[in-house]
Amino acid sequence: MGAPRFWRNTKSRYNLYGVRCGTCEESYFPPRKICPSCRRASKLEGVKLDAAGEIVTYTVIHSAPEGFEKQTPYIMAIVKLSEGPMLTTQIVDCENDEVEIGMPVKGVFRKISESGKDGPIYYGFKFMPIRSSE
Ligand SMILES: [Zn+2]
Repeated sequence: MGAPRFWRNTKSRYNLYGVRCGTCEESYFPPRKICPSCRRASKLEGVKLDAAGEIVTYTVIHSAPEGFEKQTPYIMAIVKLSEGPMLTTQIVDCENDEVEIGMPVKGVFRKISESGKDGPIYYGFKFMPIRSSE
């Protein structure tokens, strides 16, 4: 059986770089130096992971850390990627009452923070819902 349709049909794909253990074939993100299951027998290789998956759990943040106040309330979620690794990420382009467990999401490259008016702007992965129209 192939991948579920919502993964196959994702038009704009981005890749996350993680590692895969050649011994037990588990994938990890973010990359790590040893496989937690195989330890000394780990044979980790860099792999591109498909930045699509589904929401395992989420929380709506109402009081944000400094620098993120303007974005509140926002959604933080644990996303399980189609290849298995789980990561904590912000969900964007999604109403707070729209988010739900099991919702298919995909990675998007977005501004994460700005430090001051002339300071550097940081970009990174966030996730957004994969809607049926896509
Ligand atoms: Zn392993």
